[in-house]
This record gives sequence, C-alpha cells and structure tokens, in this order.
Amino acid sequence: MSEGVVTGSCLCRRVTYAISGNLGVFQYCHCSRCRKFTGSAFAANLFVSPSDFAWLTGESSVGRYVLEGARHFATSFCTNCGSSLPWLARSGRTVVVPAGSRGALEPSNPL
Ligand SMILES: [Zn+2]
Ligand SMILES: [Zn+2]
Repeated sequence: MSEGVVTGSCLCRRVTYAISGNLGVFQYCHCSRCRKFTGSAFAANLFVSPSDFAWLTGESSVGRYVLEGARHFATSFCTNCGSSLPWLARSGRTVVVPAGSRGALEPSNPL
C-alpha cells in the first residue's frame, strides 16, 4: 500500500495518531469478537509495525480492554468519545489499526 504519513483520530479528536512507512496488511475480520466490538458485520483493520506507529495527542485518553482468554485480541478506545483506536497486539509486534479511524473528521457530514 501507500508510503508516507497517515494520521487518524477518534471522533472527539482528543486522541490523534500517525503511521509512517508502509501501511501493512488490510484485513476484514468477521469473527464474533470483532462483530461485538464494532457493532457491525465485520471489522476492517490495518496491521502496522509498532516502530511505524506513534500517538500524537491524547495518549492518556486511550483506554484498553484485554479480553480474558484471548491470545491476541484486545480493544482500544477513546475514554471520552468511545471511538475505536489502534491497539498493540499482545505479541508486541503488531499494531492493529481500525481502518475507519484514519483520516480527518469531515465537518460537512450531515450526521
Ligand atoms: Zn475521542
Ligand atoms: Zn476478529
């Protein structure tokens, strides 16, 4: 995928992050955990290297929930607005980035 810096944020923009270098693998996951967490039919995630990932602002507002019994699965979210945010896999080798958290919030959105 594309090179360069990609930034993202939560809905309230308290938390922002940047990904440099390669955007890793793009994957749709339909498992029951992802469906529960996202509240939709599947999760769309990017997998990037921790060395390419940085929080820009609001890291102290990043909440994390580790599912008991799960080997890799965790969730991360803004403690202010509840938006999904990137999380570090337990292996420490991959940051899982919810694909929809990338980019800016468009002010013209009617909803
Ligand atoms: Zn937020
Ligand atoms: Zn899943």
